[in-house]
Parts: sequence; structure tokens; C-alpha cells
Amino acid sequence: MSSQRIQKMIAPAFLAVLLSAGAAQAAGFNLVSLDQEWSMRNDLHAQVQQQYRLVNDRASLQYINQVGRRIAAQTPLGNRPWDFFIIDDPSVNAFNLPGGLVYVNRGLIAEADSLDQLAGVLAHEIGHGAARHGTQLMTRSYGYNLLAGLLLGRDAGQGQRLLAQLVGTGVLTRYSREAEFEADRTGVEYAYRAGYNPHGAADFFKQLLQTRQRRPTKVEQFFSTHPLTEQRIQRVESAAARYGTRGTRDTRDFQRFRSRLN
Ligand SMILES: [Zn+2]
Repeated sequence: MSSQRIQKMIAPAFLAVLLSAGAAQAAGFNLVSLDQEWSMRNDLHAQVQQQYRLVNDRASLQYINQVGRRIAAQTPLGNRPWDFFIIDDPSVNAFNLPGGLVYVNRGLIAEADSLDQLAGVLAHEIGHGAARHGTQLMTRSYGYNLLAGLLLGRDAGQGQRLLAQLVGTGVLTRYSREAEFEADRTGVEYAYRAGYNPHGAADFFKQLLQTRQRRPTKVEQFFSTHPLTEQRIQRVESAAARYGTRGTRDTRDFQRFRSRLN
């Protein structure tokens, strides 16, 4: 028996031991390959469509995809397809799912005063996606055996149930504080490289803190997945300070986009 074959045979057992030893807790540990991650996107999106009402306005979707893809193109995964969707919900929220999927509530777009602010939030979600935080969480929550079954399509029904559960419970968007900081930091860089003002995210976060005092329920969802502390905002600001301030060219297009949705 060649050593290669032996290696293949012991690999799953070795991984199972690794997982049980808690190695999967290590940040960045990911059993899902990039191709596997992108092959999940249609099933994940189908689950979102079942659980949320999406905006179908073609011009609005074209606009948000144009902004989002310009930012995603700055990431190491910029050669993969990325898609951006608007959820028909007046509360403020946004989230990312594996395979380059980003969802933004209509209410978040209404809350953003400028294209730079929207770009800042999109860039943060893209930061999660490019760092593959979603599939890292899947690896940590489900381990090798379940993931292997799911990804190899051994049991399609089980795979669908698992994805439905992942989307429904929001487990894929409950990132660690470290993951949030990483998405903040890389998001600022991606937004800047795409031509947006790198202070957009910090400006938006500050605005949300003020909105929370007037209308707490409106921003509740966002705060539950993105704890916004003064310290966090300061870190986003100092990350942005490393780049120059720049303005945005097409604010009128943004205002038109925003008013069409609200
Ligand atoms: Zn986040």
C-alpha cells in the first residue's frame, strides 16, 4: 500500500481526533474548501428566500451590486462571484453568508446618510466573507463528519435541513469579537481601495449609537450581531486614519437609490 493511500485513509480519523482535541476552536481553522464554500451559495440563498422577503426592484439591486462588487474586487476572493441582496425590512441590519452572499435590510439603507456610509457597512460584511468567518463557524459548530456528509451530498435532505437551521438561527453571523475586529479592519481597507471614504463605517456606527437613544428597537438587530462600543468605533476610526480622507463622486445616485426603496 502506498504511503499516499495510507495517508488518505487516516486523514478523516486524524481530523476527527483534531476536532475532538479542540483544535477546531482555533481561529481560522476551516474544513470547507473555497470551491465547496461557493458551491453552497445557491442552497443558502434559497433558504434566505424562504425566511425573508427580498426586494425585487431591478434598478436597486443593480445599484447595490455595483457598489458591493467594486469593494469585493479588492479582496483576495475578488475573482469569485459575489451577490448583494436587499431585505424588505425597515429595521437596521446586514449580514454575510458563505459563498460571497451579502444581505442588507432596506432599513439600513434608509439609515445611511451617504454612499460612503453604505460602502463602509458593505465592506465590513465583505470583510467577514473574504476572511471566511462563516465557514469557520460551520467547521467549529458541526465538525468533520457532518460537514463531509453535507459537502459530499451523501444525504441531501440532511444537508437542506442543516442549511435551513444555519440560516434560521443566525448561527453563521454570530462571530467572535476578534472576527468583528478583523472585518472592521479589512473592511476599512477594502472600502478605501475601492475608492470610498474609509471613515464611512465609523461615521455610520456613530450615527447608529445616536439612533439607539431615540429608537432602540430599530437598531436592536444590528447591535445584537455587531456590538458597537466606543472602543470598537475608536478602533475603526484609527484604522481609517491610516488612509487619506476622500469624498464620493455619485451621491446623487445614492440618494435616488435610497428614496426608491423607502
Ligand atoms: Zn460583523
